[in-house]
This record gives sequence, structure tokens and C-alpha cells, in this order.
Amino acid sequence: METICAIATPFGVGGIAVIRVSGDSAVETVDRLFRGKPRLADAASHTARFGHIVQPDGSVLDEVVCTVFRGPHSFTGEDTVEISCHGSLYIQQEILRLLVGAGARMADRGEFTKRAFLNGKMDLTQAEAVADLIASQSAAEKDIALSQLRGGVSEAIKALREKLLTFTSLLELELDFADHEELTFADRPELLRLIADAQLAIRRLTDTFRRGDAIKQGVQVAIAGAPNVGKSTLLNALLGEDRAIVSEISGTTRDTVEDTLTIRGVLVRLTDTAGIRETDDTIEQLGISRSRKALEKAHIVIELLDCMTPEHVLPEGIPHAGQRLLTVYNKADRLTGQDKHPASQNEDAIYISAKQGEIQPLTERLEQEVAALTEHSDGAMISNVRHYEALTRAAEALQRVQTGLEQQLSGELVSLDLHDALDALGEITGEVSSQEVLNTIFERFCIGK
Ligand code: GDP
Repeated sequence: METICAIATPFGVGGIAVIRVSGDSAVETVDRLFRGKPRLADAASHTARFGHIVQPDGSVLDEVVCTVFRGPHSFTGEDTVEISCHGSLYIQQEILRLLVGAGARMADRGEFTKRAFLNGKMDLTQAEAVADLIASQSAAEKDIALSQLRGGVSEAIKALREKLLTFTSLLELELDFADHEELTFADRPELLRLIADAQLAIRRLTDTFRRGDAIKQGVQVAIAGAPNVGKSTLLNALLGEDRAIVSEISGTTRDTVEDTLTIRGVLVRLTDTAGIRETDDTIEQLGISRSRKALEKAHIVIELLDCMTPEHVLPEGIPHAGQRLLTVYNKADRLTGQDKHPASQNEDAIYISAKQGEIQPLTERLEQEVAALTEHSDGAMISNVRHYEALTRAAEALQRVQTGLEQQLSGELVSLDLHDALDALGEITGEVSSQEVLNTIFERFCIGK
């Protein structure tokens, strides 16, 4: 493979920057600009060498440490050198220029990881996990990316494919002996049982997607309620800062305001929706239609009510089946004596005072809800839409296999659907892949990874 190079550390000035070089002649290429003892060509794999990067006129550009990894025991599976130089932008750029002069070319986005995939160092789900790991913003998100990188998803898919391969071999054995009707290798009930097993295994995986996706995209929490019930005040209290505008005039929250916080290691996206009410003000109407959307996609809806004058304003259809509703009475500081807990019949009701920062009953409930939405005991978790879609296609193909078997369709026809299912699963791990799919996946990466 051609030798490629890129800066692996973030763009900008830092204490140290790392430049990666990978390919058949990575070691010789770096040796052309490196002066150290011994030459990198004589250095053992996985060792670091101190030396100088020297410019064509013989002058020293920088003092560096070069680490040599010889293929196949490297990230890409090829010979790789990592040059740790001083973090000046000028030095980084000059070293790249010298490397290109010495025969390397600039790497494309994700090209190091793409090579790792092409060289069989990891499958596609693991390559995708590398991008997810880099992009992760919370502990939970990091955990699913790491588990995927370690092969969690791949193993689940492999087990599934094995089940189907057993099935295929039984079916194809029958096809081979089609002339001998007296020979049956697998009775139909057994084949149907195998398919049912595989379908169940797929369903288990697709069922994890809701959790996986909530972790990856963040749990969506929408605060809804009539104007002036204290939505902005609550948002600020939850975030601990003055993010939304608080005002005594109704309808000041004209648009949705979104911010993020972390609850139990999970990223939570909090949205303050505009006061939902009839209005002629076009800007406010725009805000209302956005609130409607924010409400629809929320995992958790906080319905905020003024405890003195509770007025339910949730639009028709909210909460829907996939949502949790928390009914929260605000301004509890205004309740006195026998007023206290007027809605105590409703055990689920939560009382807070956003203005006074007394929101603990709500934060405790939120913690429970977030945990229930995202906690996952064991096994692989699907968090990638591409995997989810491929699994759905596999499930559809298996449904056709099942119908085919029930309707006594010919083995050949059943076998076609079976191969569709196997292909869909193979796309997840990359055993079946098109250039187009690979390009879309690796374009998401940063340069140098
Ligand atoms: P929004 O229109 O729902 O976003 O409401 P705001 O957050 O702008 O609050 C409306 C008014 O209610 C402001 O004057 C707040 O200070 C007041 N308010 C909010 N929370 C409380 C509370 O817990 N107790 C009391 N007494 N007033 C509150």
C-alpha cells in the first residue's frame, strides 16, 4: 500500500503533536528526514527513538521521538511510524511537507482506519466504533463505542449468521438430493424453529436500538406547559445558568431553547418549548410548530403546571406510546397550610419551586427515568442506524423465508430470501460491502484517524 501521512492530534498549537505515517515504505520514508541512532530501519517494532528531523539543506527542524510499529502488529496492519514533534503549527506543516517530498501522500479522512479494516485488523462495526469513540460526549456513549470496538456487535452478528448458515446447509443439502424425495435432512418444523430462533435474536438486537440511540444522540427531555408556569426558570435551575429568558410577560419563550447536561453519565438534551396557546403572532406560531416537533421526539415530557392554577395544555397525542410523562407542579413555595399538596391524590405528582432552586424531587425522578431508558444489563447494544436498518432488512427477509416454508415454496426460492438475510447481516460487519458504503462510513472520520 502507498505510504500516507497526516497529523493525528487536533488542529492547533499544543505541547506535542503526533504525525502518523503508514504504508509499505513508512519506515524508509521517515528515515529520509530523521537523524537518530539507530536508523528507524534498524529499530525493533514497538520502540521509540529520539532524534532530529532534518531539512534538505541539512539544518535541524525539530527534536522528535519516532515510534515504530511494524505490520501486521500495528493499528493499520502496515508498517507505521508515529512522529511526536513539538506542537507548533509551523513545525507540523513542515514535517508533513518533508514527508510528502520524501514520497508519502496526505491521507484521506479515516484512511488509517479504512486500511485497518481492509487489512482485516477490525471489521466494519469496529471501524465505526473508532469514529463513535472519538465523537463520544458522555461516559455511557463512550462505553457503547468501546464495547462495539471490542467486538460486542460483531460477535452477536456472527452468532446470528452461524445460525442461518446451519439452516442454509440443511436446506441446500435437500436441494442437492432433490431427486431422492425419500431423503429429508431437516424436517420443516425444525427449519421453522431455526428461523424463529434467528428472528428472536434479531428482535433482541433491534430492541436495544432505542436505548443505544438514546445514549448516542442523548435522551431528549421536553419541558411543556402554559406560558408563565416557569419553564425557563426550571430550565435554568436544571442547567444551573441563565440560558433561557425569564420574564413576567406571557409568551416570551418564543422558540425552543435546547441545552445539554449529563445525568448518570448519559447526555441529556433539555428543551424548553414555547408556550403552547392560540396566537396570531407569526413568529410565536413558528416557535409553536417547533415545540410540537420537540415534544414529539422527546423520550421524556415534563408537563409543568402552576400549582395554584393548574392548566393542562399538552397537545393531542402527547404523550404518545413511546414517551414517559412527568407531571410537575411548580411554584410550590406559594402553597400554604392546607393548600399543601392539593393534588395529593396523585402520588406521581412532583412538587418543586424552580425559582428557589428546590427541584430535587424532579431531578431524582429524572435520574430514575434516564436510567430506565438507557441501562442495559449485558449483551450487544445497537446504537448505529446503519446496523439497525440492515437488521431490519434481515428480519424482513427471514419473514419471507418463514412464509415460503409455510407455503411449501421450492427450496430454491426460499434459499434466495435466505441469502438476502445473510447479505444484510454481512453488510453490518463488512463481509459484504460496497465502495459506496465504505466511503460514506469513512467520510465521517477526521483526517489522521
Ligand atoms: P415560562 O413562560 O413558563 O418560561 O415562565 P418563566 O420561567 O418565564 O417564569 C414566569 C414567572 O414565574 C417569572 O416571574 C418567574 O420568576 C416566576 N416563577 C418561576 N418559577 C417560580 C417558582 O417556583 N415560584 C414562584 N413563586 N415564581 C416562579
